[in-house]
Amino acid sequence: MPPVFRFAPSPNGFLHLGHAYSALLNFDRARKTGGLLLLRIEDIDATRCRPDYETAIYEDLAWLGIAWETPVRRQSEHLADYRAALEKLSALGLVYPAFESRAGIAKLVAAREAHGPWPRDPDGAPLYPGDAKSLPADERTRLIASGAPYALRLDMAAACRRVAGLSWNELGEGPDGGGGIVPARPEAWGDVILARKETPTSYHLSVVVDDALQGVSEIVRGQDLFYATSVHRLLQVLLGLPEPAYRHHRLIRDEAGRKLSKSSRSTGLRELRAAGVTPATIRRLVGLG
Ligand code: GLU
Repeated sequence: MPPVFRFAPSPNGFLHLGHAYSALLNFDRARKTGGLLLLRIEDIDATRCRPDYETAIYEDLAWLGIAWETPVRRQSEHLADYRAALEKLSALGLVYPAFESRAGIAKLVAAREAHGPWPRDPDGAPLYPGDAKSLPADERTRLIASGAPYALRLDMAAACRRVAGLSWNELGEGPDGGGGIVPARPEAWGDVILARKETPTSYHLSVVVDDALQGVSEIVRGQDLFYATSVHRLLQVLLGLPEPAYRHHRLIRDEAGRKLSKSSRSTGLRELRAAGVTPATIRRLVGLG
């Protein structure tokens, strides 16, 4: 079986040098190993994703000289797959609805922080501070029937009790170094959101479902997702999915050392192309000379 790689951008902005680096690394690895490169459009966030960004992704990648397998998987066309995975986790008793709004959560965190520091996840966001997990069943039913919005959260403590000795095989390295067998610490993320009332999935859920369905064997992606791998490994084990290898790569930064954003003009592939920069120069700019 040839190795399978994937580049999985979200069409919520134009690609920049950081995406070019990630896509080229995947493409080069696939070519070197005789593997396949898949392209996956991660477009579950209907409020931020746009068809013109998606078209631009195809154009920019083709301009870079990258070729990928078809058909391209667009997550918005596969919601039933994520719903099925969510139901599996629900059947294990690991999912509960939480009804707090974002503002409600911020208030709860502020109240907790009045008594000392409240834990934050590896991305710096406060862990879920609410107690929706212990809401009586009839109260849940009443709130859902009333049409209240909710998020479906993973009961992290219960999930972690089901799996022991979780780790992943890191072929690259994390932001603080460290490759090889990395111990996973999903509990650092608290009760992560798996879905919302109006969307039967989340980034974490769809990424593990798709990587498994598409037979991805080596996940090459940025170090900004290194710590999220703990959650992905947990979901893979709970859902009985195969374990891919991971190769996290350094991030391309701007002159001030900041992570690139989709709105930064100077590093956008479209702007660079319009300024006469060639694909070969893009390779040199990201250190792939
Ligand atoms: N869609 C994610 C992004 O654009 C990448 C997901 C992944 O590589 O796991 O950041």
